[in-house]
Amino acid sequence: MLLQGRQGLVLGVANRRSIAWAIAQAAAREGARLAFTFQGEAVEKKVRELAGTLRRSVVLPCDVTDDGQVALLFEKLGREFGRLDFLVHCIAFANRRDLENDFVLTSREGFRLAQDISAYSLVGLVRAALPLFPESGASVLTLTYIGSQRAIPRYNIMGVAKASLEAVIRYLANDLGSRNIRVNGISAGPVNTLAARGIPGFTDILHHYRQKSPLRRNIEAAEVGDAGVFLLSTYSRGITGEILYVDAGYHIAGPGPPQNQRRRPVPTVLPRKARPRALSSRHLITG
Ligand code: NAP
Repeated sequence: MLLQGRQGLVLGVANRRSIAWAIAQAAAREGARLAFTFQGEAVEKKVRELAGTLRRSVVLPCDVTDDGQVALLFEKLGREFGRLDFLVHCIAFANRRDLENDFVLTSREGFRLAQDISAYSLVGLVRAALPLFPESGASVLTLTYIGSQRAIPRYNIMGVAKASLEAVIRYLANDLGSRNIRVNGISAGPVNTLAARGIPGFTDILHHYRQKSPLRRNIEAAEVGDAGVFLLSTYSRGITGEILYVDAGYHIAGPGPPQNQRRRPVPTVLPRKARPRALSSRHLITG
């Protein structure tokens, strides 16, 4: 088991569809003991229910916009766990109107809020976790989306926040590498979660990925979970500051007609014109 004897904190479970829950399940399967957080009473019951299905898990409150709650979280976690081997950050938020409106209409407050919850929170959480990370090192994992690199309609302010989060990954990785604390991100393809459903036109995005991605399908949250285990485990010990795409290959696809319209049977015999002539010395490539 890849995470046997390890202890980790997972932030961002809202329900069983959450990517955080998929990562938690994969980590638990690999032997990790986990702590979870919830932000408000509305999700507390759900998080406790899910956490209750895992052995010796711990559930604690934390709204990442509140420094006092962040400090208290790690104080309590210190008492429960003593040591933290990994931290999984699956938190993002933007006002719905900042996703529905044209990007140019983004408000100052909407911009601040999205950056605070979706990007700065990783800095604040990792700083507060430092005393619990052992001398042997730790692994930090966060979740991002390709809207950080490309202007995706209606992803708007969240794309800017993810660009910021990806820079945070690199700066934290550089800062903390000498302590063997690795910081990486997974850029996931679209997954049908509570947060994703807040993005206008999300079902169209799912459809677009099925047509355009090399694997010609959408990803499953469990695939993010398994990739997450890799980044949390010593199998990735030489990797930090990295963004790993778990998106059925979408990010490498170029423009063109939808893939499934171009699918043709692979010819077993080359058409006559395409048959290569016998090689002469002129065709030899050397060096
Ligand atoms: P999700 O299940 O809705 O999870 C989002 C979590 O963020 C929720 O648990 C939410 O808690 C939490 N959160 C928001 N504001 C918070 C705050 N102030 N303090 C503490 N927690 C707060 O959605 P998800 O899709 O799994 O999202 C997880 C991560 O994956 C996000 O970073 C998202 O951007 C990223 N991601 C998602 C997709 C996708 O297609 N789903 C693709 C790429 C990347 P409450 O429910 O209590 O507000």
